[in-house]
Amino acid sequence: MKQSVTLSSKVDTAKSTLGATLARLTARVHSRRSLRTRSRKQWVILSGKGGTGKTTVTAALAHLAAREHQLVLADADVDAANLELLLSPTVVEEHEYVDGKVAAIDPQLCTGCGECAEVCRFGAIVAEGLNYRVDPTACGGCAACRYHCPAKAISMVDSPTGRWFRSETKLGPLFHARLYAGQESSGRLVTQVKQNARLLATEVGADLLLIDGPPGIGCPVIAATSGANLAILVAEPSVSGVHDLERILSTTRHFGVPAVVCVNKADINPAQTAQVKALCATQQVPLVGAIPFDTTVVEAMVHRQPVTQYRSSPAAVALQALWRDLEPWLEAETEQGPDRHAGRHV
Ligand code: SF4
Ligand code: SF4
Repeated sequence: MKQSVTLSSKVDTAKSTLGATLARLTARVHSRRSLRTRSRKQWVILSGKGGTGKTTVTAALAHLAAREHQLVLADADVDAANLELLLSPTVVEEHEYVDGKVAAIDPQLCTGCGECAEVCRFGAIVAEGLNYRVDPTACGGCAACRYHCPAKAISMVDSPTGRWFRSETKLGPLFHARLYAGQESSGRLVTQVKQNARLLATEVGADLLLIDGPPGIGCPVIAATSGANLAILVAEPSVSGVHDLERILSTTRHFGVPAVVCVNKADINPAQTAQVKALCATQQVPLVGAIPFDTTVVEAMVHRQPVTQYRSSPAAVALQALWRDLEPWLEAETEQGPDRHAGRHV
């Protein structure tokens, strides 16, 4: 009898352990499902060149999105980061960015033979009387001089090219960077900024990582665009603006990133706005916004605020309409967006 009670109690214990394990596994599966189905998107705002109003659009979208969604922001324009000018961030982390090595001459060991200057194809070794020194801004880091120096006076040292920051803003954390003067634009620094922003977005479960992209179509733009779910292209209504839009469209298409277009200052040149519209129609790209010229944009910049703070200004009204068109992309299950033809085509 005693034996059967013990056995029955063991069975009960096993059942309850199994039940608890199953409950844990079920909870884990549900949690993974909810992670999978949760919309977590990466949008990049681009333009074929600078000065089209890209940062104005980014700050406005961030301001509107932050009312209902958790955001992480990244300013990928490391040559001229200016999203920070509109969002008044408080820096909470600051790091030096090291991009490779440059040569350095130890004057104590250098005999002044000049062999390094002869071998350097970048003209980075400067003779100053009998002394030689390296111009770090010209050095390509090839280390040829180091191998040729008979006095072993040259070593390769870290080359800091800028700094990156993590800041807090009212709209969410912001990652941004600054290249040191004279440094070439660095796609690698853009990647660093973006990766840090992505890591934090994943960690905190942010709904949207919004990236203010660099101008142009070069390496930094590619670094900012890779992995994005949507590119919002800000076009300028001018002959060169249409050409720039064409170039950036071919870039986003090449990397398989869906794009939508909005025209800034659309009313200052209706003929070229019509050209943008025609290009979008030909390339089957949704034209989702037309922002009118509005002096409030400058006023907002002076006061370091997104223009959408001035709710009834013409630009803010247009940007609110743009956000209403874009918001469904945030919930879209497919990379093609909520509907290939969704949006208020303007
Ligand atoms: S090769 Fe070496 S020793 Fe000769 S000048 Fe250059 S650093 Fe000095
Ligand atoms: S590392 Fe290369 S580029 Fe730099 S100074 Fe030496 S030879 Fe010139």
